[in-house]
Amino acid sequence: MGRAAQRVFDVAVIGAGAAGMMAASVAGQRGLRVVLIDHAQRLAEKIRISGGGRCNFTNLGTTPAQFISQNPNFCRSALAGYTPRDFIDLVERHGIAWHEKHRGQLFCDESSEAIIRMLEQECDAGRVSWRMPCPVQAIAREADHFSIKTGGESIEARQVVMATGGMAIPQLGATDFALKVARQFGLKVVEPRPALVPLTFDAEHWKPFSALSGVSLEVSVRCGQGRSKTVFLEDLLFTHRGLSGPAILQISSYWHPGEPIELDLAPGQDLAEALLAAKPGNRQQLDTALSAIWPKRLAEQWLATAPGRPGAQRMADIPDKTLRALAARIHGWRLTPSGTAGYRKAEVMRGGVDTRGLDQKTMQAKAVPGLYFVGEAVDVTGWLGGYNFQWAWASGVACGRALQAA
Ligand SMILES: Cc1cc2nc3c(=O)[nH]c(=O)nc-3n(C[C@H](O)[C@H](O)[C@H](O)COP(=O)(O)OP(=O)(O)OC[C@H]3O[C@@H](n4cnc5c(N)ncnc54)[C@H](O)[C@@H]3O)c2cc1C
Repeated sequence: MGRAAQRVFDVAVIGAGAAGMMAASVAGQRGLRVVLIDHAQRLAEKIRISGGGRCNFTNLGTTPAQFISQNPNFCRSALAGYTPRDFIDLVERHGIAWHEKHRGQLFCDESSEAIIRMLEQECDAGRVSWRMPCPVQAIAREADHFSIKTGGESIEARQVVMATGGMAIPQLGATDFALKVARQFGLKVVEPRPALVPLTFDAEHWKPFSALSGVSLEVSVRCGQGRSKTVFLEDLLFTHRGLSGPAILQISSYWHPGEPIELDLAPGQDLAEALLAAKPGNRQQLDTALSAIWPKRLAEQWLATAPGRPGAQRMADIPDKTLRALAARIHGWRLTPSGTAGYRKAEVMRGGVDTRGLDQKTMQAKAVPGLYFVGEAVDVTGWLGGYNFQWAWASGVACGRALQAA
């Protein structure tokens, strides 16, 4: 082998986050010469802050149905090839204690740092070379390899894996670099936008509700029409600027600007029937009566915004028609957000590299042999609850297994 050939890595993985470390470690442990490049000062910041510092690293209920993509079947192969059980086995081999919190969501008992250390050790086991912090300035295709221009050196590799994630939380170093590289090589990109993100409202419209900031309750939330209608039953949180909490983060991934969302603030109950049954001879104020099912602050403040301000009236004095109309409003509160809180507050980016240009088994660009895209950069976006990491692991592994030695 000549000197030039020795300098060339089999693989350069750009982005040492969840998907990048997974792809690098799998390829390295198969004997490939891998270099892992990241511009950040600290390794895997998103894993560190995830799940409130405990990393919701997978979800036992993962199926393709929990992923949003213009090509919903694309994720099937990778998810089937590396399941939540496979990741749990890896976590357990590293002695990391975990627990199930809610609806199949698995978290570390101690800290997300354990997952970062585990991935680092897996990379070391694959003798992966590190370049970090190392900004990547440009990628060019040469005759039989890629040339990666960094701040300090030019790195040559036969294959490149783009694992630079999405644009959520730019303050932690998130960029659109994967999308730029995709376009540079002629791949299509599905329009990116913030997802799993709080929804905001026009300040004037929100004024009466801003006093509810901090109030939380279980709701059912929906948006869309007909077959594209989506519904989640989760907790809602009122904030100064709008709505947040799991219910809103989930629906935000489906919401389109200008569209209303509809909230059922008493899901699973027949409020009209309950109010009419409780009415005869009832001297309680309506807001006091509603405090039985709602936080008191919500009952008082929300009813103050209802037509006719019925909250301070005695139950017995309120006409049946008014109670029925109020119940209908509580079960179907329609609101039109003015926007989202943006990438600074989003957990993920929706959209990304169009999967129709990628091979679903390997993540390789069909038209650019040797170029791969994994993780959040790809147009596959999971629900809240550990699904985005499961996609990162599964797409990273699919790619790591497919990469080729010289
Ligand atoms: C606050 C928060 C909490 C979250 N909690 C969870 C959770 O509990 N469970 C879950 O499943 N998902 C969670 N997510 C989503 C999850 O973190 C991401 O979907 C996942 O990290 C994506 O993995 P990735 O490897 O594709 O990208 P990332 O993990 O974002 O890694 C991308 C890497 O690329 C590097 N990079 C970016 N641009 C460049 C460049 N130009 N040059 C070199 N390097 C670059 C970055 O520094 C980074 O290290 C959370 C996200 C946020 C923001």
